[in-house]
Amino acid sequence: MSQIFDFGYRRSYRGAVQAVIFDWAGTIVDFGCVAPAVVFVEVFKDRRVPISMAEARAPMGAPKKDHIRAITEMDSVRRRWEEAHGRPPSEADVDAMYEDFVPRQIACLSTYSALIPGTLELVAELRRQDIKIGTNTGYSAEMAAVNLADTKAQGFEPDSCVTASDVPAGRPYPFMCLKNAIELGVDCVDACVKVDDTVPGIEEGLNAGMWSIGVTVSGNEVGLTLEEWQDLPEAEKAARRSQAHRRLAQAGAHYVVDDVSQVLPCIDDITQRLARGERP
Ligand SMILES: [Mg+2]
Repeated sequence: MSQIFDFGYRRSYRGAVQAVIFDWAGTIVDFGCVAPAVVFVEVFKDRRVPISMAEARAPMGAPKKDHIRAITEMDSVRRRWEEAHGRPPSEADVDAMYEDFVPRQIACLSTYSALIPGTLELVAELRRQDIKIGTNTGYSAEMAAVNLADTKAQGFEPDSCVTASDVPAGRPYPFMCLKNAIELGVDCVDACVKVDDTVPGIEEGLNAGMWSIGVTVSGNEVGLTLEEWQDLPEAEKAARRSQAHRRLAQAGAHYVVDDVSQVLPCIDDITQRLARGERP
């Protein structure tokens, strides 16, 4: 016969969703996450090392200096670098490229700062449900300031914005999400949801103990502007969508949807799962 001390008891949060934390580029602004990608290509081109958009996009989600370093560590890029310079890229090269990157990124952010369709409607409904709106980003604080100002003019004002330069380490570390939780006054991470378009962004949410929702069509994985996406033949759309879906699902996302306009049913489902005692 089992004794009482043979059993453990699991505590579960059964309350409401308290906060939704959105990534910026590719999730709520900059359909296709174009702004960072084009600047990475330019910065390497200036070093006489051409890189493809796919190479520029691969580490997306990370803080931008880590992103530049990750590109220099790709075998294909390293080979081209050595052909151009007769030596492998160094940390000093990464520093110098990041210095070039910052003003160029800031200069072009406003070109790509239109809100992704569905953002305002979703935020209005979440606020109606007393859910706080957090944001975080691989951009630095000065880059994020451009997006904040541009989207304020479009009617978007988050309760919290944490940037890569505000924490000791960016994604996939959970620090930005946890700082959002502090700023939003959330009392249990189980009550938080992270929405992101990249693998490091999904991992960040999971590492913070939160529910994570991946967005495919508007994000870096598909990597097309809204117009380019709309012009794509249906078969090509389906292929791109399912490839992106697979990547984010395999990263552990609880839900994967096309874009922010499809997030609300996921929040409703999370609310029901919490009520049943499920945890992220
Ligand atoms: Mg993003």
